[in-house]
Amino acid sequence: MSKVLIIGAGGVGRVVVYKCAQHPEVFSEILLASRTKSKCDIIAEAAKAATGHTHLTTAQIDAEDVPALVKLIESFKPNILVNVALPYQDLTIMEACLQTGTNYLDTANYEPKDVAKFEYSWQWAYHDRFKEAGLLAVLGCGFDPGVTNIFTARAARHFFDEMHTLDIVDANAGSHGKAFATNFNPEINIREITQRGRYYENGQWVETEPFEIGQAIHYPNIGPRQSYLLFHEELESLVKHFPTLRRARFWMTFGEEYLTHLRVIQNIGMAGIAPVKFKGMDIVPLEFLKAVLPNPGDLGTNYTGWTSIGCRISGVKDGQPQTYYIWNNCSHKAAFEETGTQGVSYTTGVPAMLGAMMVLTGKWTGKGVFNVEQFNPDPFLEKLGDYGLPWEEEVGGDLGM
Ligand code: NDP
Repeated sequence: MSKVLIIGAGGVGRVVVYKCAQHPEVFSEILLASRTKSKCDIIAEAAKAATGHTHLTTAQIDAEDVPALVKLIESFKPNILVNVALPYQDLTIMEACLQTGTNYLDTANYEPKDVAKFEYSWQWAYHDRFKEAGLLAVLGCGFDPGVTNIFTARAARHFFDEMHTLDIVDANAGSHGKAFATNFNPEINIREITQRGRYYENGQWVETEPFEIGQAIHYPNIGPRQSYLLFHEELESLVKHFPTLRRARFWMTFGEEYLTHLRVIQNIGMAGIAPVKFKGMDIVPLEFLKAVLPNPGDLGTNYTGWTSIGCRISGVKDGQPQTYYIWNNCSHKAAFEETGTQGVSYTTGVPAMLGAMMVLTGKWTGKGVFNVEQFNPDPFLEKLGDYGLPWEEEVGGDLGM
């Protein structure tokens, strides 16, 4: 019986609340807090009606205000805080967890608002303070990062003596019927994908132009989809924790229509993050764009098709070459029917709940700041299918990369 404080009432927050509320034997009291309390209330009412959880409350919070966070945490005394607000708030929330003696879990690494750059250094720098406080901070427990790291940990533990190449392949083969929309926070998503590409090879990071490298990748039950090499944050922690990797890359599908819209958005300056003066006000173009784009949390209504995310790994086992592929396919429609939101929020929210459950039930322990591949993957993967994200694996097949 534990208390969980969830911060962030977007698409992912909605799924975390639903999934925690389905398991009152672990999450006996749930508090959902976010910048806009009315959004928390809508989610809490819907989750109560769907699950019958009786101890689900809401609060308003600005998660960039450490004293306000400390006050909220002290009033509720959670056993763990699940941060599914935006990456900008990671450090203030970690700071408040330290001040109140609270365990922490998130799904995206810290990013400063004024530079479109994300890396783990800022959060890894908290390791000693969490360790000294006897607290656990779990970083990146969504799907990617998150399940992809845990899939890689399973591969290392059970199928390889040495892993040499890792390709994380991420397809969204769904259709939401909108001309252009992003599947999670548009501001964070566009900042991420308009960066230069980057992959790891022979001990070095190799940079590419955005979308410079693409190929058709075959996804199970979906077929071939054009996929592009991007930098994604889990590459940074995975090459650190699995140093035998000689190459690590991340691929994501993008359709022609999406890329055309993105090009126009960039060409007309709407992806900019530096403020511009408009009618005497400072306006950040990308923040304004977010306000006019469809809300990712509302895309679910007519969303059809599947996501497919997995890890394709090659290396050596017992002196012989070995290949391994592990993946999950998730239906947007099924995700919507269960939680009222689409598959990308679902595939992020389920692992966040399950990671919190691993900590609260003592399956994942430690003092300090950890990426999820540093824990035992087995208890997590034993439950992942039961909780909505069944996975499959193939040993010895053609990776097609
Ligand atoms: P949304 O934009 O839908 O939701 C973000 C929520 O955070 C909103 O409710 C927002 O409040 C709230 N928020 C923003 N700023 C503050 C603040 N200062 N104080 C309190 N609350 C705040 O995003 P998503 O739900 O799509 O994504 C949530 C997180 O999940 C992001 O960090 C994203 O990067 C991550 N993610 C991770 C993935 C993974 O696989 N690892 C995949 C997809 C997403 P308001 O409603 O007022 O705007």
